[in-house]
Formats: sequence, structure tokens, C-alpha cells
Amino acid sequence: MSLISFDLEKCTACGTCSEICPVHIIMPGEDGYPSLPAENEPFCSRCGHCEAACPADAIQGNYETFPPENDIADTTQLSPEVFTKYVQSRRSTRTFKNKAVEKEKIAGILEAGRFAPSGMNA
Ligand code: SF4
Ligand code: SF4
Repeated sequence: MSLISFDLEKCTACGTCSEICPVHIIMPGEDGYPSLPAENEPFCSRCGHCEAACPADAIQGNYETFPPENDIADTTQLSPEVFTKYVQSRRSTRTFKNKAVEKEKIAGILEAGRFAPSGMNA
């Protein structure tokens, strides 16, 4: 399965996805309909921009970007006070225990970090 699916029945060939892709890997064909050539897939940052910006809801990213809807619903329950507390309690860690960190934890941190705003994904 392709990393990004385009529903050409819904697509209006507006070109938005090609224009907004930060790494310019969505190619508009001669007919105006977009595609993501297989050789371009490794350059996809999985930012979800194309899917979010498509006015016709014609794009689906075939990769996991967000937690299940229930988790998102929980996130929206985060009050400004609790969020502020999280932000204020952020600390850099400069000393470490001599203890291995589970791979799942590292993968989870990297996955979350992937969504930190950057010039390429926001
Ligand atoms: S943004 Fe959506 S409607 Fe526009 S070309 Fe891309 S897939 Fe088609
Ligand atoms: S997910 Fe982001 S990088 Fe990948 S094709 Fe869509 S806009 Fe481009």
C-alpha cells in the first residue's frame, strides 16, 4: 500500500497538496491529479499536512500519526492549569541512572518528539 492514498473520485485536482507538501514530493500529473511516486516515499516526513489541507477530504495517510480518537478526546480535557503545570515542570536531565531504558519508552518519546513544531511539519 502506498504511504499516501488519493481518492481520485473525491479529488478536484486543485493542486493544494502538491503546493503545501513541505518536501515537494506530491506530483501533479498532466491531468492535474496528484500522486506520490514510490521513489519519493522515503522523503515523506509523515507530517500529515496534505491530508489536513485537502479541501475534498481525498487524502489518507497510511501511517500512524495520532493516537486513537479516545486518547485525543482525553487530551482535549487537559485544562489550561494542568497544561501550564506540565510546561512549567519541564526540566532538562543532566544526570542519569546506570539503567537501561526500555525500547518501547524510547520509541514513544521519539514518536512524540516527531510532532514538535519545525519549519517542515507545522
Ligand atoms: S488537495 Fe485534495 S483535492 Fe486538491 S489535488 Fe490534492 S488530493 Fe486532490
Ligand atoms: S505527509 Fe507531509 S511530507 Fe508526506 S506527502 Fe503529505 S505533506 Fe508531504
